[in-house]
Amino acid sequence: MKELEFYNTLEHRQMPFRSLVPGKVGMYTCGPTVYNFAHIGNFRAYTFEDILRRTLEYFGFEVKQVMNLTDVDDKTIRDSRKAGIPLRDFTRKYKDAFFEDIKFLNIEPAAVYPAATEHIPEMIALIQKLFDRGLAYQAEDKSVYFAIDKFPNYGKLARIDRDNQRAGVRINTDEYAKDSVADFALWKAWDENDGDVVWDSPWGKGRPGWHIECSAMSSKYLGEAFDLHTGGIDNMFPHHEDEIAQSEGASGKKWVNYWLHCEHLMVGGEKMSKSLGNFYTLRDLKAKGYTGREIRFVLIGAHYRKKLNFTFEALAQARETLQKFDDLFARLKKIDLAGDGAEVLDVIDRSDAAFADAMADDLNIAGALAVLHELMRNANRLADEGKLSQAGAEKLLDLFRKFDKICGCLAVDAARAEESFPEEIVALAEARVAARKAKNFAESDRLRDEIGKLGFSIKDLPGNTYQLKKL
Ligand code: AMP
Ligand code: ZN
Repeated sequence: MKELEFYNTLEHRQMPFRSLVPGKVGMYTCGPTVYNFAHIGNFRAYTFEDILRRTLEYFGFEVKQVMNLTDVDDKTIRDSRKAGIPLRDFTRKYKDAFFEDIKFLNIEPAAVYPAATEHIPEMIALIQKLFDRGLAYQAEDKSVYFAIDKFPNYGKLARIDRDNQRAGVRINTDEYAKDSVADFALWKAWDENDGDVVWDSPWGKGRPGWHIECSAMSSKYLGEAFDLHTGGIDNMFPHHEDEIAQSEGASGKKWVNYWLHCEHLMVGGEKMSKSLGNFYTLRDLKAKGYTGREIRFVLIGAHYRKKLNFTFEALAQARETLQKFDDLFARLKKIDLAGDGAEVLDVIDRSDAAFADAMADDLNIAGALAVLHELMRNANRLADEGKLSQAGAEKLLDLFRKFDKICGCLAVDAARAEESFPEEIVALAEARVAARKAKNFAESDRLRDEIGKLGFSIKDLPGNTYQLKKL
């Protein structure tokens, strides 16, 4: 089995993964800003993180994942005021929606979901530390800023040229572009745009900047140094760069060993985003009749470091593919030929190793899905040839269950589509299986005709199984 390796943005190379504490992983994920329903672009990032976490668990690590909820920042304040709803009530609605959505996509919950508004004292303490170390200052506008020229490592993640740094130039907004690298706000002095969103601090009334929350909350739950930090590629600058400056500035130690960033979900060549208006929420797709596992299958289908273009054709394709897996699982469950399952041992060993090797190679999902397809072909072939025993079929189902610990969308044991055939038809089909087993072929033919008269066809498959179709 190959060793687990990830592409570490910090070092710009793929490298073996080694956790600080053997067998355990601390993982921090930048979570949603709860000012709106998350769109499926956001969910590409969260499903990537889910795949990462499930893969670590697959390889035997115990993972503690922390995902923050940004419930106070420029956007949440702006939109709650626009809506005339208190910030807490406004963000509650989108927090609830977020939890519903991750469940719909079968994303495993994190261990902790700390909310920014519940960690203001921790943020103030961290800013105080930065003051004590000479890395923070209060400007004439009363806001507190991080002094990037006092932190020689500033720019190491996003590879910012030190000459482009504009020390002493300040930026007060949470989001800004790489060409406006500047001292960024740790604590924002209150102004009328903030309305009643305000806390006391040693520097006067105000509220935290966006970046400080992740530094404060990650360290509270994962310690001053931990293994993995993830997010969408657009979070790398300034957000993650600023997080590093704050955390390493305060502790004087290396903070995070591995940084993993996922590429964007695109629509027609452009990033899916709220500001461009080219987005779909999960609710939009649900309303069109797509299931969580179909959407999940599309979102996980491309390597996380490659752009993924969202199309409805891809969703239709996902539906078709998952249906084929459903058919196979139903078929395997019905096989009742005698045997010890030795006929599948070879195929199982090869698939098991190939799947793990693909995922170990920086989460090569395309390789892993190819293994699934190949296994489906092999299973169907063996069944077609009447070479698959019940024991063999069970071994195959177990392997699919194992793979689904990472994929999370195979539904090996879910009620299947065929059960949506009318009960009467299924009963006739089962009676026909019994008749054939008893070699009562006249009865078997009669049952076939009866099924036909009711508008369905039945095809015999090896292993006393069958396939029904509506005519
Ligand atoms: P936000 O709520 O804007 O802070 O974004 C939440 C997460 O979604 C961040 O990790 C972003 O990087 C990520 N994200 C936003 N848009 C996209 C997109 N089109 N594709 C992939 N990830 C995205
Ligand atoms: Zn963050």
